[in-house]
Amino acid sequence: MVQVRGVNKHYGALHVLKNINLEVGKGEVIILLGPSGSGKSTLCRTINRLETIDNGEILIDGKVLPAEGKELAKLRADVGMVFQSFNLFAHKTILDNVTLGPRKVRGLSKSEAEAEAMQLLKKVGVDSQANKMPAQLSGGQQQRVAIARALAMKPKVMLFDEPTSALDPEMVNEVLETMVSLAREGMTMIVVTHEMGFARRAADRIVFLADGEIIEQSSPDEFFSNPKSERARDFLGKIL
Ligand code: ADP
Ligand code: MG
Repeated sequence: MVQVRGVNKHYGALHVLKNINLEVGKGEVIILLGPSGSGKSTLCRTINRLETIDNGEILIDGKVLPAEGKELAKLRADVGMVFQSFNLFAHKTILDNVTLGPRKVRGLSKSEAEAEAMQLLKKVGVDSQANKMPAQLSGGQQQRVAIARALAMKPKVMLFDEPTSALDPEMVNEVLETMVSLAREGMTMIVVTHEMGFARRAADRIVFLADGEIIEQSSPDEFFSNPKSERARDFLGKIL
């Protein structure tokens, strides 16, 4: 579903992604781990071309992601993204937040978009909040709306960049549970998280990044009990 082939990226003199090769199968859940500054967010952002790349290519469902233009907008809709900050439109209701994209990009009518949106809001457990404004919801509820909004575009893959890092501790689990059920339904997911319990439980594969390089990839069991590289051991020693 996602193929990253020989991707390099610099920020000025900083070589932030070094020859990244990564394949994510349909329905696979990849957890990206690595020290702060290792390039996890940059990798996520390059996968839907929020960032340009120097060279290499990125394919979504077998199609090369072009650098710009109308084709990019279409393919980018295949990639849903959920960030640390919820990024909801503050001056729009929850329902409008979820229907806006499908009406604009997928060309749905208001009533079609609203019917779909209510299904999605129900799925993430916030359908009773549909007519409220974002600020009236808790952080955990807002993040679940952000997930519903991304799903409303019918993405083929979902990227999550530290989706629970900005939440109060008691709200972390409700968001993780939503992500676990999405994974169980077969969504292809790439997740950056510091929630190691979730990583163990939900990951099909752990991808460990350091200094812009993929250092190792393995099953969660293998990664957590027997990391191969010194840098992964060092990383786990600091967080576990
Ligand atoms: P992570 O998400 O793993 O913490 P990032 O992808 O955010 O890492 O950052 C990787 C490196 O790139 C860091 O050294 C960071 O300072 C640098 N960086 C990130 N974004 C920019 C930017 N827009 N301009 C310049 N440097 C950046
Ligand atoms: Mg980051």
